[in-house]
Amino acid sequence: MNQLCAIFAHPDDESFSAGATLARYAATGVRVTLITATSGEAGEVVGTVEPQELAARRERELQEAAAALGIRDVRLFRLPDGGLTDRSADLAMAIAEALAEIRPQVVLTEDIQGITGHPDHSAVTRAVLCAFDTLEDSAPLKLYEHVLPQSVAPPGLHGTPDDYITTVVEVEPWRAQQIAGLRAHRSQVGDDILERFAGFPAPLLDHYVCVRTRVPIVIPEDDLFAGVAEWKPTASGGAA
Ligand SMILES: [Zn+2]
Repeated sequence: MNQLCAIFAHPDDESFSAGATLARYAATGVRVTLITATSGEAGEVVGTVEPQELAARRERELQEAAAALGIRDVRLFRLPDGGLTDRSADLAMAIAEALAEIRPQVVLTEDIQGITGHPDHSAVTRAVLCAFDTLEDSAPLKLYEHVLPQSVAPPGLHGTPDDYITTVVEVEPWRAQQIAGLRAHRSQVGDDILERFAGFPAPLLDHYVCVRTRVPIVIPEDDLFAGVAEWKPTASGGAA
C-alpha cells in the first residue's frame, strides 16, 4: 500500500501548504500520516482563547482539519512552539523513529526557507533531511519540500525560483477540502484567508521540489509517487 507522511511545524501549516495534495492522495487510497511538531501554543490568535487553553484548542483544530482532508493518522510531538531550532536533535530523532515505524514511500515537508520565514519551519525541514539521510534502508524513497513558485509568491513570502520546481500536482478537485481544513483552524485563520484561497486561479496547483530520491525520476513530474510503483527492493536493500 502506498503511504505518504507529511511533517510540519505547527497546526495549520498542513492546510495552508499541502492541504489539497494531502486530500488528493488520501482520497485515492494512499495512507496519509500527518506529523505536527508543536501544538501551536505560541502563535497569534484570532478571536479570544485563554493562553492556557491554546495548545489543547489547536490540537483539536488540527484533528478536525485532518479529518476534513481525509487523514486518519495524526501524530503530535508537542515540542515547544517557537523553540524547534533549539531542539533540532530531538526533532530529527523523533522524525527518524516515526519514519522507521510508518515506512512511507514518500515524505513531504516545508520549504527549507520556511515560506513565511518562521524559524520553526526551517528547523523541521532540516530535521526531516537529517532523519531521511540516517534511514539507510529502502524507506522512505522520496522527499519533497512544498514551495511557492517565485513567479506567483505574494509579497512577504519566500518564493522558490520556478526552474527549481521538480513536481507540480494538480489538486483542483480538492480545493474545497483544503478550505475546509483551513476553516477548522478557527483560532488562527480568519475569513479573509478563506476568501483568498477560494479565489486562487483554477486549476489549483501545488508545487514541490524533490530534494531526495532513491528511485530514478524524470523531471518534471506530476505525481509524488512517480517511480515508486516500479521500484523493487534488491536483497541488499538498494534500487534494482
Ligand atoms: Zn507554521
